[in-house]
Amino acid sequence: MNLIPEEQALVEAARAARVHAYAPYSRYMVGAAVRTTEGQIFTGCNIENASYGLSICAERVAVFCAVAAGARAIEAVAIVTEDGATPCGACRQVLMEFAPDPARCCVILATLDEVVARYTLATLLPQAFGFTGAAPESSV
Ligand SMILES: [Zn+2]
Repeated sequence: MNLIPEEQALVEAARAARVHAYAPYSRYMVGAAVRTTEGQIFTGCNIENASYGLSICAERVAVFCAVAAGARAIEAVAIVTEDGATPCGACRQVLMEFAPDPARCCVILATLDEVVARYTLATLLPQAFGFTGAAPESSV
């Protein structure tokens, strides 16, 4: 799958972050990188805990690092795992919170040596929850 240079750089940042994963329990290492609408890249890795429920995914670490640095708008995400997995539901919802245009927010999935899939965030999380102050309209 061909990527433009900005996407390739995002995948490489995610690969580099994966090396720092702390996953002594699952041994499933994940790296993620998000690019803001201002072109900044923030990375994350999964961080597990002996109290399993306290573990956190790489994607959320990357988003939270971006937010902690003052960013609020994410336009692309790259996730690197050994098998090219998709982000979990919790991470999709967290990404949605900071993606001003989910239909254009690119989610790139890669393994250690190749890109395996590419989605938009809107495709991965249709009908996402969002506070609107009103009940959502039904589609039926
Ligand atoms: Zn997750």
